[in-house]
Amino acid sequence: MAQLTPMMQQYMKTKEQYADCILFYRLGDFYEMFFDDALTASKELEITLTGKDCGQEERAPMCGVPYHAVDAYLNKLVSKGYKVAICEQVEDPKQAKGIVKREVIRVVTPGTNLNAQALDETRNNYLMCIVYLIDRYGVSIADITTGEYLVTELDNERRLLDEIMKFSPSEIICNHSFYVSGVDIEDMKDRLGICVYALDSWYFDDAMCARVLMEHFGVSALEGLGIADYGSGVIASGALLKYLMETQKTSISNLTRLQPYSIGKYMILDSSTRRNLELTETLREKNKKGSLLWVLDKTKTAMGARLLRRFVEQPLIDKTEIQKRLDAVGELKENAITREELREYLSPVYDLERLISRISYQSANPRDLVAFKISLSMLPHIKYLMKSLESPALQELEAQMDELSDLHQLIEEAIVEEPPIGIRDGGIIREGFHEEVDRLRNAKSEGKTWLAQLEAREREKTGIRNMKIKYNKVFGYYLEVTNSYKDQVPEYYTRKQTLANAERYITPELKELEDMILGAEDKLFSLEYGLYIEIRNRIAQEIVRIQETAKAVAGIDVFASLALVAERNNYTKPSLNEKGIIDIKNGRHPVVEQMLSNDMFIANDTYLDNAKSRVSIITGPNMAGKSTYMRQSALIVLMAQIGSFVPASAARIGLVDRIFTRVGASDDLASGQSTFMVEMTEVANILRNATRNSLLILDEIGRGTSTFDGLSIAWAVVEHISNTKLLGAKTLFATHYHELTELEGKLTGVNNYCIAVKEKGDDIVFLRKIIKGGADKSYGIQVAKLAGVPESVIERAKELAEELTNADITVRVQETGNDAHRAKRGRPRKYDPVDLDQMSLFDTVSDSDVLRELEEIDVSNLTPIDALNTIYRLQNKLKNRW
Ligand code: ATP
Repeated sequence: MAQLTPMMQQYMKTKEQYADCILFYRLGDFYEMFFDDALTASKELEITLTGKDCGQEERAPMCGVPYHAVDAYLNKLVSKGYKVAICEQVEDPKQAKGIVKREVIRVVTPGTNLNAQALDETRNNYLMCIVYLIDRYGVSIADITTGEYLVTELDNERRLLDEIMKFSPSEIICNHSFYVSGVDIEDMKDRLGICVYALDSWYFDDAMCARVLMEHFGVSALEGLGIADYGSGVIASGALLKYLMETQKTSISNLTRLQPYSIGKYMILDSSTRRNLELTETLREKNKKGSLLWVLDKTKTAMGARLLRRFVEQPLIDKTEIQKRLDAVGELKENAITREELREYLSPVYDLERLISRISYQSANPRDLVAFKISLSMLPHIKYLMKSLESPALQELEAQMDELSDLHQLIEEAIVEEPPIGIRDGGIIREGFHEEVDRLRNAKSEGKTWLAQLEAREREKTGIRNMKIKYNKVFGYYLEVTNSYKDQVPEYYTRKQTLANAERYITPELKELEDMILGAEDKLFSLEYGLYIEIRNRIAQEIVRIQETAKAVAGIDVFASLALVAERNNYTKPSLNEKGIIDIKNGRHPVVEQMLSNDMFIANDTYLDNAKSRVSIITGPNMAGKSTYMRQSALIVLMAQIGSFVPASAARIGLVDRIFTRVGASDDLASGQSTFMVEMTEVANILRNATRNSLLILDEIGRGTSTFDGLSIAWAVVEHISNTKLLGAKTLFATHYHELTELEGKLTGVNNYCIAVKEKGDDIVFLRKIIKGGADKSYGIQVAKLAGVPESVIERAKELAEELTNADITVRVQETGNDAHRAKRGRPRKYDPVDLDQMSLFDTVSDSDVLRELEEIDVSNLTPIDALNTIYRLQNKLKNRW
């Protein structure tokens, strides 16, 4: 077999080391990809696939992207989950002997992408490292664009999944044990869009991890980092750091602090609760608009926006800490003038966290430094205003802020007002900053005058009136003489080039001038480049001061935003208690009220405590506002624990450790679960993990199955929750099973509420007001009418409803233990027939009915979920026959 060309051999050798990456191999002005990489990239990037002679019979598949437009292509591949290794020419091709030396200078992965265009400035881009060791998970999280670096340990998978949802990293790296631990990796990849990679085992060597951490932070023992007790945490954070070094090929100098955290500090919110409460995005469209964050976010800076998102994603549970935040918001709400002034000064502040990261990764250009300077010029004003504020959180932020005036002065003195983006073509350093720069620049501009003078002298001497001094890259400076004056050219002119109508010459004097001018330019450019790098490095050395200040600015921005929202939306300061009393007067849904015009939202009270008002059974027709009411109560508690004021006229909030929601029926076809299965899985999770300090929002438990089973489950769930020996959590429980209202008085702590409606003839008017007591009717048919169900169907439904009501159907329950159990608990044996499903309309169901139905099914036209539901229904028919 023919040998590969030397260049291809170099390519293959590099590719071998980066087998899991797409290799961008620099060739002149292009990054080329070959073989399988070319096939993949041409498809993903929609670029033409060509071929290259590689020394063998067949040409190597090849495609390429221009180096000056590489970012867009790179981002596209990375966003699709590919890793890209960038292989650069590391020596000047002109000086190279043989093949130009090339090296991979960086590997870009979803969680390590520094490119600003690929990043949403209002959210972090997290990389998460998970290490699974016997019974513990070590978890470390970093955002290299901002310098955040965290570590924790968890002892169960559910908590781990909560943390994954909380941070929603773009990339997870893990050890092999985690990859095969049974966690649904495919679900993470497909549904959550997270890239998950299992790394080689050497990354997780504990001695190596400890050494990497100690070297990076310059400490001699892990105690110095406060993580000595974190066995698996040390491995996770060490492996993560090592991975960053391996991909970035540089020291990761902007990770200046490793922050251990305990999940016990925050309210635990599982993934379905986050989704259902629409904290940062809406359930269906996944838009920020319509979420709680959308209402609360009036921040002025990207850092503030990211911090507020973290606040919303991690509500606190410690009363003192929450109180501190509330007091800060309160003070800024009261001091509207100071707040608005602060917001004005915050407005021009660029993303300091990401700027300093670019500075420390040496990718910041001169314009970034000017943006940095503009931001720094705001700091003294912000600090001055902050000094007038008294609440402890604001005072701490003021103290944490550094005016960074030395850096401001440095950039102001060194860099021109409007520098170019490039750093190699001069024009960066301000006049007066460096003597030699000024001298060379003068030489360069004076050169122009010298040239003009020379031109005039030569014209005079030779009498060639239209002679001109011109310049091009190939010949440098020359004198151009048109053919009509050719004869007047003196002896000492040396001809360089002949054109159709002119000739080009040089003279010794012109050559000397040229050397001076071009030499000065070269020297100037390299001097400016050197100075620029020096200035950038000087700023990079102050990274800790800058990061601390950036954090303080973010905090101020968040408190100002929460204060502004509180004022604009007429929120009130909640008072916190640890007695478990949730007492909300005239509460409103923070998002729905913004969507409705002209104060149309009807406010409602919520009262729950640990004694007589633990569980509220909420009934009322569809569309009455049950879900809205329950979500608003949960959101108000959550907002309070974020440190935000709340949409109510008054609120006492008993702090909760977790909020659980089970709202609406949603199919999870992707994970192959039926509606009812999803519902029951969520219920199981709630009953297992809730505590008496949790708040439960349960909407329509048991609707996904037959009435019998559903009602029985709902009933049993209420019994379990309200029983203080078993759980005793505070609960809002919305249901269409009116039978549950009979639990009031039978179970302590259970109370009935309903959402009032007014009947107007055949129609109903929604009053949206929650009142004591249970609803006596479903109004399902009226709501169906409102929704536009054809009149004939509505009429028929009414007839049936009437028949059923008159028929006084008594449900025949098998004389089983189940029935005896119900009888003992005092459960009624007669049900409102309107609520019974079709099943109970018929006296018997014979096997042949089921068989016939089975026979008639058109299997080829059945969706998976229809199939599941059908099997379920048929099985129920058989089970319930008597
Ligand atoms: P279903 O039982 O069908 O799920 P529901 O009783 O849960 O219905 P919601 O979905 O909460 O009803 O509310 C229906 C609509 O009514 C909401 O989209 C909202 O626009 C409006 N609404 C709810 N509560 C209020 C309120 N307090 N003031 C004004 N409008 C409200």
